[in-house]
Amino acid sequence: MEDLNDKEPGDTETLLCRLGRAPAEHAGMVNVPIYRGSTIVSETLEDWDIRNKDTPSYGRFGSPLSRALEAAVCKLEGGFRSILFPSGQSACTHSLLACLKAGDAILISDGVYAPVRAFADSVLARLQIEAQYFCPTRPSELAAKISANTRAIYLESPSSTTFEVQDVPALVAIAHQSGALVIMDNTWATPLYFRPFEHGVDISIQAATKYIVGHSDAFLGSCNCE
Ligand SMILES: *Cc1c(COP(=O)(O)O)cnc(C)c1O
Repeated sequence: MEDLNDKEPGDTETLLCRLGRAPAEHAGMVNVPIYRGSTIVSETLEDWDIRNKDTPSYGRFGSPLSRALEAAVCKLEGGFRSILFPSGQSACTHSLLACLKAGDAILISDGVYAPVRAFADSVLARLQIEAQYFCPTRPSELAAKISANTRAIYLESPSSTTFEVQDVPALVAIAHQSGALVIMDNTWATPLYFRPFEHGVDISIQAATKYIVGHSDAFLGSCNCE
């Protein structure tokens, strides 16, 4: 039942209702309760030391509710690990900062979400990370622009501004051939309609503000790796 690739009708819908929820651990409550807190304590030092490594040790790192949502998103993405961020833009910028260092270059598909372009052209440039852009429907252009210091390529398909659907496997093959990582903003398709890890992508981003939150009343982002 827990396989998104199962083509049995209704399976994905069932998963969406059940993932990340554990009523037996929360007095039967269907949804994991909201935790409000900063400092976290244990009764003894021994208890603190044996805390599960996934259990937050300070409120800034999240709560059992954050971990439950990360587990649900991770399952939907089919990845190894998900990390939540306070916005989609935060997930985008943290993915870039996690992969890049001074002297690296990144190739970004031209129709990318504009604030990511602004971040690349301002903050990444200040960190001596060179951002260049390529036409996402021309894999040959990517191949021509890739260089020895291209550490990553950044895709968004469909693109925010122009809505091209890109040939992700072809772009991934070019990137991987020269050892570059592939970061993809998969907000528009969501893992329900495009499964980045099955096409070789290394990091998949969701602006969860959009479909996952869904009501234009909160910000959330997730970064998922294989
Ligand atoms: C909205 C959006 C973002 C940024 O998400 P926020 O939560 O608004 O910061 C990033 N990528 C895409 C494709 C988006 O549509």
